[in-house]
Amino acid sequence: MSPDVVVVGAGAAGIIAAWRAATLGANVLLIEKTNRIGTKIMISGGGKCNITHDGPIEAVLKAFRQPEARFLRPSFYRYTNQQVLDLLHDRGLETMVRPDGRVFPVNGTAKDVVGILISYLEEAGVEVWKDSQVTKISKHDDHFTIHLAQTESKQRQAEHRFGSQALLQEVLAQDQCAEGPQLDQIDCANVIIATGGSSYPNSGTTGDGWPWMREMGHTVTPIRAALAPINLTHKRTDWSGVALRDIILRARKENREIAKWRGDVLFTHTGISGPCALGISRIVAESMIGGKVILEVDLQPNTYFEQLNDDLLKTASQNPRRQIRQAVHSMAPERVIEDILDQCGIRDETVGSNFTKPQRSKLVQLLKAYPLGPVSGVPLEKGEVVAGGVSLDEVDPKTMASLKCEGLYLCGEILDIAGPVGGYNLQAAFSTGFVAAESVAQRLNKI
Ligand SMILES: Cc1cc2nc3c(=O)[nH]c(=O)nc-3n(C[C@H](O)[C@H](O)[C@H](O)COP(=O)(O)OP(=O)(O)OC[C@H]3O[C@@H](n4cnc5c(N)ncnc54)[C@H](O)[C@@H]3O)c2cc1C
Repeated sequence: MSPDVVVVGAGAAGIIAAWRAATLGANVLLIEKTNRIGTKIMISGGGKCNITHDGPIEAVLKAFRQPEARFLRPSFYRYTNQQVLDLLHDRGLETMVRPDGRVFPVNGTAKDVVGILISYLEEAGVEVWKDSQVTKISKHDDHFTIHLAQTESKQRQAEHRFGSQALLQEVLAQDQCAEGPQLDQIDCANVIIATGGSSYPNSGTTGDGWPWMREMGHTVTPIRAALAPINLTHKRTDWSGVALRDIILRARKENREIAKWRGDVLFTHTGISGPCALGISRIVAESMIGGKVILEVDLQPNTYFEQLNDDLLKTASQNPRRQIRQAVHSMAPERVIEDILDQCGIRDETVGSNFTKPQRSKLVQLLKAYPLGPVSGVPLEKGEVVAGGVSLDEVDPKTMASLKCEGLYLCGEILDIAGPVGGYNLQAAFSTGFVAAESVAQRLNKI
């Protein structure tokens, strides 16, 4: 018997869509390419899972760009951040809200969140085919044919990686048994596409859904990196691991400020990572088209330029024998301060009494605008999300139904949506998945 609805992709959006449609009485088949469910949830928030963002829906929506917020508004109201949490609380997960509004499990980990979601799928009677890759979807009159290939989960290959990539390797190494039939195609009248974006391709999301959507008449807006580390032309390889805390990272193009973010920066082998880099990466990636983007760091964001100059002048005149190095050593990590002092020509013997005005001006300038140099790239595959995807003009925001193809529904990151760090992207996946499921149930006259 063919299912009422096939959900393609068992990430946050597909899991919620499959579960909700099944609880409303639909016969649901969830098809997943890898041998795992919810891989990206597992690695989210560094394995701690920033489930959603706290606060009134309008405030949560404000974090998105305007067209995205407008599109998401109906689904965010239909399935709120609180409802997502209630679903998890009902199965015993305790959560806490951080001062910045990000919501995490208290003692548990992302693994607990995925465990609960799997228990909901099982209870609702969703049939799950893992290790089953959808290769093509074609439409014939009133039904779709979904073409399948069995997959050998390549994700078990061991690779030496760092950070979230290392976490991903760990998650993939924990075996889940493969299950999936030996069918090479299946027919169905309703399809929910939840194949995600194309960042972290090792997790299974390799942008498979976009060509299918193009074939069905959809526009896919250009795919770009967002929430990604930034590569620099001038690599400070030996600074890898050095962190700048509570600074402002600025991006400039043609001398005009195009983005800034306050927080932490971490130097990597190829450039920078950390919240500030992720925060400005989308604008940087967009601005690199047709122009050079340059980064700089304000290492003293709480002190104005003039104030810093006066403070240094005062320190020098009040402490004529004290090394200038001593006066500034706590203003940035040692490597950075050494480089700054070097550029200013300040040596061990530079003390308050022989600290010159040009040295002081240069020191202030570097502390307020330490140059990181030109950006060489923003690696799409290393981002937490990608910007771009199926055009929002072609999907009904109230139902997630395709406006190009009847019976087709889209949810999650396959859409042209990319929120900032903070639990916004999982919420977008959960809410759009929920709404897509209800719309299918309505089409099936289940509600
Ligand atoms: C390292 C990292 C950390 C993150 N941390 C957070 C966080 O803390 N909070 C937050 O809100 N967001 C976070 N995000 C973003 C968030 O995880 C994603 O936006 C969200 O998971 C997208 O959900 P989705 O269901 O649309 O897509 P995905 O979760 O990517 O799921 C898509 C699924 O479809 C499957 N699939 C793809 N192609 C096929 C095919 N051809 N056939 C069958 N199946 C297929 C994939 O294998 C995958 O399982 C993070 C992302 C990353 C990479």
